[in-house]
Amino acid sequence: MSGIYIHIPFCKSKCSYCDFYSVANSAIRADFIKALTKEIEIRKDELKDQKTETIYFGGGTPSQLNIYELNIIFQKLYSVFNISGDCEISFEANPDDLDVEYLQNLKQTPVNRLSIGIQSIDDRILKIMRRRHNAAEAVGAVENSIKAGFENISIDMIYGIESLKEKQWENDLKNVLQLPVTHLSAYHLGIEEGTLLYRKLKEGKINKTDEKSSFRQYEILLETTREYGFEQYEISNFAKDCKISKHNSAYWTRTEYLGIGPSAHSFTGNKRIINPPDVKNYIINCNNGLLQSETDTLSVTDILNETIMLGLRTVKGINLASFLEKFGYEEHYSLLKRTESLNPGYYKISDNHLYLTPVGMFVSDNIISTLFI
Ligand code: SF4
Repeated sequence: MSGIYIHIPFCKSKCSYCDFYSVANSAIRADFIKALTKEIEIRKDELKDQKTETIYFGGGTPSQLNIYELNIIFQKLYSVFNISGDCEISFEANPDDLDVEYLQNLKQTPVNRLSIGIQSIDDRILKIMRRRHNAAEAVGAVENSIKAGFENISIDMIYGIESLKEKQWENDLKNVLQLPVTHLSAYHLGIEEGTLLYRKLKEGKINKTDEKSSFRQYEILLETTREYGFEQYEISNFAKDCKISKHNSAYWTRTEYLGIGPSAHSFTGNKRIINPPDVKNYIINCNNGLLQSETDTLSVTDILNETIMLGLRTVKGINLASFLEKFGYEEHYSLLKRTESLNPGYYKISDNHLYLTPVGMFVSDNIISTLFI
């Protein structure tokens, strides 16, 4: 199985919490599309004869592309790669871009899964996040998507913001989970360096949410998703009717994928290849037939630590039989030994799998670093 990630680096403005690579200069969009198709052409042999089972348009804001531009990318992808007939093709979109006409045209492309960045349905919180849409537009975007014929719709939400009260979070979740969506990604706010929120935190204008309230919001997330028929399959991801994201699941099982576009990452089993986050140079280089990237070759220790980290993010956990087969008896024994030092409430071992309990998942960063070699 192989996947393709395509990074569309344009955003109309920057959200206050975001550290993804994006630029506001949409005047270079035509040049970017040309460069992107060049990169696809240059890298066409990297997936060899593998069938492409998933394609993911992320960003930035893919819904900043018009349908003509999107079709140019699809034409190139389909002419170069062996794309499976039932390929999952996800497209990240912002609510303010999703009017009925755009969605109806999008439905005529191969896109079959939408990932809508709602983030909140509280106008006050949306303002703090500097989102470009309000709550009514967020709900309207989901309704328009259904009207246009999309059936597989994921939404993103963010919790753990200081001024988000627990009851409010519960009500917001109930309101969005009543919508006809099949998937929820809910992330705890991380205040990353380089973001507006980070600056405000340093200036003492905002505070971090206290641990107790964060944990209660996480518990509310688990309770409410269960109540609405969503199953957790990863720390931040929940699916209804088995509509898990095949693309993201492939990341957690260390399946190879190709990343196209500035700041995109590719993974080949023992190498992680990173395209520099610089769209202007990207355009110049691709048009000259050159690709600039940094390659990180993974050692056995890196691969082992990745297997622990990615496995423990998922509800299934680490398959201990595969771990033994891949890394040998000593590493298997040593992992189980390190596990014994954890709080017994944080993990379980059953059916030859090591996995985290819901409480363990909340503190997974600490646990995972304890289990690293
Ligand atoms: S729209 Fe998405 S990628 Fe763009 S700034 Fe906001 S969060 Fe970041």
